[in-house]
Amino acid sequence: MATPYNKNFVLMVEDLTVSFDGFKAIDNLSFYVKPNECSVVIGPNGAGKTTLLDLICGRTRATAGVINFKGQELQKMREDKIVHAGVGRKFQTPSVYEDLTVFENLELNFPRGHRILGSLFFRRAPDVRARIEEIAAKIFLSDHLDERAGFLSHGQKQWLEIGLLLIQDPELLLLDEPVAGMSVAERKKTAELLSDIISQRSVIVIEHDMGFVKDIATRVTVLHQGRKLSEGSMDHVQNDPKVIEVYLGH
Ligand code: ADP
Ligand code: MG
Repeated sequence: MATPYNKNFVLMVEDLTVSFDGFKAIDNLSFYVKPNECSVVIGPNGAGKTTLLDLICGRTRATAGVINFKGQELQKMREDKIVHAGVGRKFQTPSVYEDLTVFENLELNFPRGHRILGSLFFRRAPDVRARIEEIAAKIFLSDHLDERAGFLSHGQKQWLEIGLLLIQDPELLLLDEPVAGMSVAERKKTAELLSDIISQRSVIVIEHDMGFVKDIATRVTVLHQGRKLSEGSMDHVQNDPKVIEVYLGH
């Protein structure tokens, strides 16, 4: 049975703990994401940021606590069911198919329900092509649809990977360091892309680049040793002495 949920929040993480051989990588954490929010998680290495995303997408099992996504308890669900429920995860390293074109990469990630006619008809379906072109425009790859993904720049591969999530139409996107290795210009475009994305969805981003965080965040959460150290606007956390001491001061 579905758990009742508060429509003010897409995601409600409550009292979440994961312990690896007694070490608590996430320690009694509560964390909430609203619709159309870009929630950014920052904190020193080892704070538990990636582990938090692993827990939400079902890659790691929680020891205790609840992860409520629109009334569904993700901590009880398998990874593929979580994707199906509408949670998309981008990992730190791009994992696009290098030998396939940009078009083919997007096509492969098109939701399965539309593939019953078989790949030949599927490919020709005008609505599929239109959707792929729409996503390609969002991720700045309209002029690269027939290019092999292996020839894209590092930044373009990162965008393609975001496109592979978008084509599945998730309600919540989890992005782990999406601008790592990007140029300043690419970071700016990624910030534009994110502000476009949150007009229709929510995003949780892990990031170290404070300039980028400032551009995109509607809320910042600082993790330290698996716990919430501070939370609020960028201004608030930047001026929080606890945050300066353990993170920003270094
Ligand atoms: P961050 O992303 O904030 O740098 P992580 O979430 O990757 O930190 O890691 C948090 C802590 O949990 C680290 O000390 C890491 O070594 C530990 N950890 C993460 N995953 C595992 C695992 N599967 N088994 C044991 N320890 C882990
Ligand atoms: Mg990490």
